[in-house]
Amino acid sequence: MRKNIVAGNWKCNTNLQDGIELAKAVNKLVVETGDKKATVVLCPPFIHLTKVVELVDSKSVSVGAQNCGAEAKGAFTGEVSAEMVKSTGAGYVILGHSERREYYGETSEILNKKLALALANGLAPIYCCGEALETREAEKQNEWVKKQLDETVFNLTAEEFKKIVIAYEPIWAIGTGKTATTAQAQEMLAYIRQLIAAKFGNEIAEGTSILYGGSCNAKNAEELFSQPDIDGGLIGGASLKAGDFIQIINAF
Ligand code: PEP
Repeated sequence: MRKNIVAGNWKCNTNLQDGIELAKAVNKLVVETGDKKATVVLCPPFIHLTKVVELVDSKSVSVGAQNCGAEAKGAFTGEVSAEMVKSTGAGYVILGHSERREYYGETSEILNKKLALALANGLAPIYCCGEALETREAEKQNEWVKKQLDETVFNLTAEEFKKIVIAYEPIWAIGTGKTATTAQAQEMLAYIRQLIAAKFGNEIAEGTSILYGGSCNAKNAEELFSQPDIDGGLIGGASLKAGDFIQIINAF
């Protein structure tokens, strides 16, 4: 049975002190009121990772990074390697977020290197895909997403792919308050599952957690998560408020 997952992507928000307070608040709510139907993952900025790992109840809350370097180690000033992320106790890493692709030029080639290093270091990648508004308006979203998967995670072995979580995040829905309709999200996630089945077989497709991301919030999460192929969410803005985030976590 595949896991339901709700992952909070804090992006470049919260200083260390505020991040600690937010992680404590989410942890308390999950421990005291969480209905345990979903794996909860907090993805704070790199510098918060060690502290957040230390303060959460690891049985209730997991921790992930928002990125990792494309090289294992060496003279790459400012980079944080997959091994470093793993050494904090984090278990997940978001890769291929559209903001990384758009603002930091992350190509499939770079993402393949990051995926390999994340997997080699025992991190579970939360691999993001999704189309821009023009692509959706041209009704080319399926081809776009297929190409993103074909060029990256579909080159992994079946054993490697089993560790991947997919997050479909239409760019036009991220941080815009414009959520994909439940039907649009379900349709795309079912399509992605079909692609996984064609590549790796039904068992792996049925076991892969596929998340929706893009203005998912405390009000729309329940309807989105009621869909057969939506196994949870990658949550940006709404993960910065513990009260909203717990409602999303408990929306299954
Ligand atoms: C995200 O950036 O992963 C995201 C889904 O953001 P938001 O929830 O704010 O749209």
